[in-house]
This record gives sequence, C-alpha cells and structure tokens, in this order.
Amino acid sequence: MLDVLIIGAGPAGLSCAADLKKRGLSVKILEEHKEIGVPVQCSGLISWNLSRYTRIDDSFIERKVHTALIHSPSGITLKAEKKRPVYVIDRNMFDKYLAKGLENDIIFNERIIRLKFEDTHVSLFTENNAYKAKMIVGADGPLSVVARHFGVSPKTATGLIAMVDEKPENDIVELFYNRKITEHFLWKIPRNGKTEYGMMGKKPKIKELMNFFSLQDADISGGLIPMKPAEKTYFERAILLGDAAGQVKPWSGGGVVYALLSSQIAANVIEAASKTGDFSENSLHEYEKGWKKVIGKQIAVGNAWNAFLNKSNNAMIDALFAFMKLIPLSRIDMDFLI
Ligand SMILES: Cc1cc2nc3c(=O)[nH]c(=O)nc-3n(C[C@H](O)[C@H](O)[C@H](O)COP(=O)(O)OP(=O)(O)OC[C@H]3O[C@@H](n4cnc5c(N)ncnc54)[C@H](O)[C@@H]3O)c2cc1C
Repeated sequence: MLDVLIIGAGPAGLSCAADLKKRGLSVKILEEHKEIGVPVQCSGLISWNLSRYTRIDDSFIERKVHTALIHSPSGITLKAEKKRPVYVIDRNMFDKYLAKGLENDIIFNERIIRLKFEDTHVSLFTENNAYKAKMIVGADGPLSVVARHFGVSPKTATGLIAMVDEKPENDIVELFYNRKITEHFLWKIPRNGKTEYGMMGKKPKIKELMNFFSLQDADISGGLIPMKPAEKTYFERAILLGDAAGQVKPWSGGGVVYALLSSQIAANVIEAASKTGDFSENSLHEYEKGWKKVIGKQIAVGNAWNAFLNKSNNAMIDALFAFMKLIPLSRIDMDFLI
C-alpha cells in the first residue's frame, strides 16, 4: 500500500510530494485537471522568500519588481522600495517547474468525490476508481473536498484579474485601497508585455474593477482566496495543506510562500509518523503546532488588518495612511510582517 496520497497538484501538493519522495516514502498525487498549472487563478506576485523554498528559475520569472506604491482613497501614496526583489511569476510555468521529477507520480483527470477512513488506511474515490494509502494530504485548494469532509472549510474572499494588452511603463506594483469599491484592495502589476489589473473583495464585480481602472477590454479570470485558516488542519490519517488549510496571508491573499513553507513542515511530520506507524491525531498534531509556530502570528496580524478595513470608512483609511508615511515600509517583509 502507498504511504501517502496527495489530493491536488498545486504548489502545496507538488512540493510536499517532492519532499516526501526525497525521504523515501511512496507517494502519488491525484489531480482533477489534465495538466499541471492550468487554469491559472493567481497573480503570481511573490517575495524573495520564494528562494528559501525553491530554486528561482528563469522559466517562470516574468519580472523582478523593487518598488510598490500603495494609494489611499484620497490619493496619499506610500512608497516601499525593496533591495531584494518581489517576483512576478508565471504560475503555469512555476507549477510545471515544481512538477519536474514527479512525472510518474501524478494521476491526472481524477477528481476525488468521496473519502472513507478505515482502521489501517484511507480510501479515496473518484467517479471510476478507488485508491488507498496509509494517510492523505488534502492539498486541494480553497474548495477542498478533504476540508469539507471534516466540516472545516476555510472562509473565503474572491480575487478577480483583468489582463490587458498594455505594455508596462515601469517595474512598479501599485495597490489601491478604497472602501467604496471593496473591503480589501485593488492592484496593478506589470507583466511580460501585458498589465494585470485586479481586485480582491467579498463579492467583487468585474464592472467595478473595469470602471476603477477605466478599462475597455480585458481577459477576465479569478478564484477564491481563503481568508482564515481552517479551524483544524490535522485528523487521524489526514492533514490539510496550502489553501485547503487556509495558509494564506489574509491582508493580500498571497498563499504560495506559506504553502511551500508548510509543506516542508508537513513532510517532516509525515516522515516521523511513517517511521513509527502512528498516524493518530496525536501524532499529526505536531504539523499544526509547527506551521502555526512559524506563520500563526503573521496570519493573526493580517486578520487584524482586515478587521480594521471592514470597520473603516475612507476617511479612517486616509488617516492611517497619513500616519504610515512616518513608517519605513521598505523594512517590512511581505510574508513576515512582525
Ligand atoms: C485572483 C488570485 C490572485 C492570487 N495572487 C496571488 C499572488 O500574487 N501571490 C500568491 O502568493 N498567491 C496568490 N494567490 C493565492 C494562490 O493562488 C494560492 O494560495 C495557491 O495557489 C495555493 O496553492 P495550493 O497548492 O494550496 O492550491 P491550488 O493552487 O488551488 O491547487 C489545488 C489543486 O487541487 C486540485 N483539486 C481541487 N479539488 C480536487 C479534487 N476534488 N480532486 C482532485 N484534485 C483537486 C486543483 O485542480 C488544483 O490543481 C492568488 C489567488 C487568486 C484567486
């Protein structure tokens, strides 16, 4: 029997699989799509911290950005200039890069619809097939079937992207806060020969995004973004990882760095459980303790920021920006705020 079955071949599932394989465990990934990396539902704006978890390869880097302008509703602008780059990555190519070496370990076109936990293993069912492993990793994104099985689905917001055939004039990322348009924020990102406009909110509307940036024509995409971690991310013979666990920065919706970081912690705990044969909640609890130790506080700060935005009007956001002008933003890390 397989040691581990991973559901979902996104960054979380792929990096966890690679790590487990390196440690000698037998592992397979079940992915509902027929190809890695598509459809893309991500802006791919990722801090230099990415280089702590994977090699930075030219195949997926579109641009390197060092400056961000953050605009308040009335036009107070904060400038963050970073020595280390923030990468604009091509998520399709990035996921394909992470999948290198796992070609024989991914089973495509298999959508898990049901799970059954037995005394000695877990059974996963797709429309036509059944699979068995000693334990499973739910790395199946914000609508995780594994999280839903345990009744712990993370709370979500929505991200909308409008991709425009507009050559970027510079390498600057811009964020816009405006409480009349969204509870979260809007953005403009220079891409490879194009410009991306986006918006995150509880129920963002394409029309509002297009109007805000005076856009005429754009390719629209989007997806769900977890806003809070799942109440619990470990169970007997199962853990949740990445978006399925809600391991995302709530202030920005970015989840790639946290997914890679958490997948390493998951691999450590799964390896230990495999050695002892103890896949109990007690043993897998170490995983949640581990990831919360590293990013729990960061997520709490992001949630506090969202709570502030939720209760604020534009005048309050302007007042905060006036105060933040005094803070050297360039020193703040995108992923580890405190
Ligand atoms: C509009 C938008 C913009 C974003 N921008 C950024 C950004 O700039 N920077 C950043 O860091 N993050 C960003 N994110 C978040 C980022 O995309 C996620 O945090 C990241 O993809 C999480 O990786 P994952 O592997 O956990 O999940 P996913 O990438 O969602 O992968 C889950 C995989 O599971 C598969 N799957 C799902 N259900 C099943 C099933 N039942 N059976 C089999 N397979 C299944 C899916 O097909 C998918 O391949 C953005 C998200 C959105 C929506």
